[in-house]
Amino acid sequence: MSTKNSKINKTNKYEKNVDKYVEIVNKSTPYPQRAFKFLYRATALVLLASIISGFVFMALGQYVLEHSRKGQEASIQEQNLLEQNNLQQKLLEIKQEHNLLNQNINCSPPNRQANASTANETPQFKTIVIDAGHGGRDAGVRGEITDVAESDLNLQVTFALRDELKQRGHTVVLTRQTKGHLSKTDRFVKREDMEARETTIQNNAHDFVISIHMNRFSDSKRRGAQVFYQKGSDNTLAKYMQNALNQNQEKKTQAIAGDFFILRASKKPSIIIECGFLSNPTDEKQLACPDHQKQLAKTIANGLEEFLKIST
Ligand SMILES: [Zn+2]
Repeated sequence: MSTKNSKINKTNKYEKNVDKYVEIVNKSTPYPQRAFKFLYRATALVLLASIISGFVFMALGQYVLEHSRKGQEASIQEQNLLEQNNLQQKLLEIKQEHNLLNQNINCSPPNRQANASTANETPQFKTIVIDAGHGGRDAGVRGEITDVAESDLNLQVTFALRDELKQRGHTVVLTRQTKGHLSKTDRFVKREDMEARETTIQNNAHDFVISIHMNRFSDSKRRGAQVFYQKGSDNTLAKYMQNALNQNQEKKTQAIAGDFFILRASKKPSIIIECGFLSNPTDEKQLACPDHQKQLAKTIANGLEEFLKIST
């Protein structure tokens, strides 16, 4: 019994040792597995480091990009400023050239009447309708040299005359204030345009109507301003106006009677002033010149005021 028991004990002890050994063997990691573990950890570390450095590089890259973009923007702004300055300089040069050109053209001959003083006269303030002839689709006649449209020059002279008359205390009504024609539809442009002028004249209490036009003639030598009045009506205003205009031109002429729709639109003294000939190069150049337009406006205002002196 005791022998048997001691055998069993020995066996148990042996088994226990074996178990312990197996356990130790199990616990200790075999070499390939350890190497794999090491590689695994190293790879993970490298990956982590790469990710972190990736983020750092991205941030750095973005910073550098942002910086260079700002730099670029700043240089673009500088360039824009430079270009702006250059443009302003060029504009100034063009303006100076333009002024020089105007001086060279000398398009305003000495106006003997322009500075006529009316200081001693009792001023009479009137309402004048100024009608800028043509407009839009109806350009009127055209300049021989520059092909300028009569309608545009009419409007420019009208504005100059409006300013001059207003400055002298008169009230001004304009039938046309833009480059376009006055018709409401495209069917009867000329008729509707003229009717619109008639409506403006009749809807506004006024003392005079002055219609502004430019002339054209087959003989290109023909120059100067010409006044027209409605046949059968009093021609005193027309005479005074022609007289005022004659003082600034070589060819003296007389006011001419005719039959005109615009002159029949009012019962008040009404005249057409053909300011000059667009078929004559000198007249064309002068009529397009703002200084000449102002002088012309002064002469017309003087003619009107000369008439006012005797009409009371
Ligand atoms: Zn005309």
